[in-house]
Amino acid sequence: MVTENTLTDTLKRRLRDLRISVTDRCNLRCTYCMPAEVFGPDYKFLPRSEILDYEELARLARVFAGLGVSKLRITGGEPLLRRDLPDFIKMLAAIPGIDDVALTTNGILLPKMAEALKEAGLGRVTVSLDSLDDETFGKINGRGTGVKPVLAGIEAAEQAGLGPVKINMVVQRGVNEQDILPMAEHFRGTGQILRFIEFMDVGNSNGWRMDKVVPSREIVQTISRRWALESAEPNYQGEVARRWRYKDGEGEIGLISSVTNTFCGDCNRARLSARGELYTCLFASEGADLREPLREGKTDGELAELIGGIWQRRDDRYSEIRNQHTKGLPKAEMSYLGG
Ligand code: SAM
Ligand code: SF4
Ligand code: SF4
Repeated sequence: MVTENTLTDTLKRRLRDLRISVTDRCNLRCTYCMPAEVFGPDYKFLPRSEILDYEELARLARVFAGLGVSKLRITGGEPLLRRDLPDFIKMLAAIPGIDDVALTTNGILLPKMAEALKEAGLGRVTVSLDSLDDETFGKINGRGTGVKPVLAGIEAAEQAGLGPVKINMVVQRGVNEQDILPMAEHFRGTGQILRFIEFMDVGNSNGWRMDKVVPSREIVQTISRRWALESAEPNYQGEVARRWRYKDGEGEIGLISSVTNTFCGDCNRARLSARGELYTCLFASEGADLREPLREGKTDGELAELIGGIWQRRDDRYSEIRNQHTKGLPKAEMSYLGG
């Protein structure tokens, strides 16, 4: 029998963290994630019947918790578009063994929802924001949406007690590298933690090229020329962001270097798509279907065996072997499997 204590993959990594995508839809069209040319008016999103309902998702989350998962993150697409999300959060927060339920969002709907999410048991929020300049941000998000609604979302989350909010900024060469310092300045001293993410080659449609990646080390150099930084210890093993602290005590930043400084060795995350497929890597081309076994009446024990077996066979380390064997392979879109 597979148990939490014995479950490791072929590279001795445990299963600790589950990201649940609750929808493949989004109210933005970020060029690096769901470019409008591809995700246009005729794009066929998943119909309702294909998407797992909250009972089904929560049941799977319970099975994952039995296998060692203690952290859940709700994502998408844009998770706040899914109806009655606080009801789902409540179900997740009640699962024994789950000590952290978090959410990644573009923030636009937070002013409406932050309080209900907090009451339901949500612990933390990460909000994505790539620029403080309306024009740049509007171009990146593909909808011309300005910065104000996102800042209002961050504020609403803080007011509701969901802080300190983390801010995710995807940095692209020639697109928003000029925003690194203004973003750092804005969030310094607020207690909010700005994290710079290297532009990744997820999916097949975002036109990724290595020369569009701004390496984390360059970002650290840019910021430290203005404010002295010192590196800080990880908060826990497997933390993806490398931490840097402002020496003047004004807080910290994080760097997520998925391209130039990979962290597959510690990767203890699984992803569940809205359709109920299990992905063991962000760059996988396909997931394992859990919806059919779930709907055809498998017991929790049988589902645990199935999931545990998949984890035991896992050998993913895409970022470490990027460009070696992986060129040209189709990958699932991030908005679909959950970023
Ligand atoms: N819609 C929500 C949001 O934007 O926060 C949640 C889903 S989104 C797919 C999750 C995170 O993935 C966001 O912070 C986004 O910036 C990041 N992301 C999406 N595509 C990316 C890419 N190609 N490279 C790096 N990060 C990416
Ligand atoms: Fe939507 Fe988030 Fe993807 Fe932007 S990054 S298109 S907000 S899912
Ligand atoms: Fe984990 Fe895959 Fe990313 Fe490596 S490439 S850190 S295995 S998700």
